[in-house]
Amino acid sequence: MDQPMAAYDDSNIFAKILRGEIPSHRVYEDDDTIAFMDVMPQGPGHLLVVPKAPSRNLLDADPLVLGKTIAIVQRLAVAAKAAFAADGVSIFQFNEPAGGQTVFHLHFHVVPRFDGVPLQPHSGKMEDSAVLAEGAAKVKAALAA
Ligand code: AMP
Repeated sequence: MDQPMAAYDDSNIFAKILRGEIPSHRVYEDDDTIAFMDVMPQGPGHLLVVPKAPSRNLLDADPLVLGKTIAIVQRLAVAAKAAFAADGVSIFQFNEPAGGQTVFHLHFHVVPRFDGVPLQPHSGKMEDSAVLAEGAAKVKAALAA
C-alpha cells in the first residue's frame, strides 16, 4: 500500500531562496518561475528550475503550473546547452525520498552533458561561489542572445 504524502513545508531551502532569505546564483525569473545554479552541481552548468507556487513535488503540483514550468525548463535547457557548448542536456526531477528527492519544493534539474563524461554524484561536492557566478553569467548571456 502506498504511503500518504507529507504536506508542503515552507521551511525548505528553495522556499527560503524564493523569499530572498538566502542567496542564490539566479539565472532567470518571471512571475511564476525562478532558475538558479545548483550549489552541488553534477556537471558544469547544472541549474534548477523552480516554480514559485508551493508544491512538494510533481505529485501534488497544479498541472497548469507544470505546463508553465516545463516551458521554462525547455528555454533554460537550450540556453545552458549553448552557454556551455554542451553535446546534450539531461533533465531530471525526483519525487519523495524513495524517488531521490532531498529538497521538498518542486524543481527540475537541467544539466548540460558532454560526450563520454559521466555525471558527478547527486548532492556531492559544494562548488566555489565564483564558479557558480561565472556559470550563471554564461547562462544569462545565452538567454539574452
Ligand atoms: P533533489 O531534491 O534531490 O532533486 O535535489 C536537490 C538539489 O538541490 C541538489 O542537487 C542540491 O545540490 C541542490 N541544492 C541544495 N541546496 C541548494 C541551495 N541552497 N542552492 C542551490 N541548490 C541547492
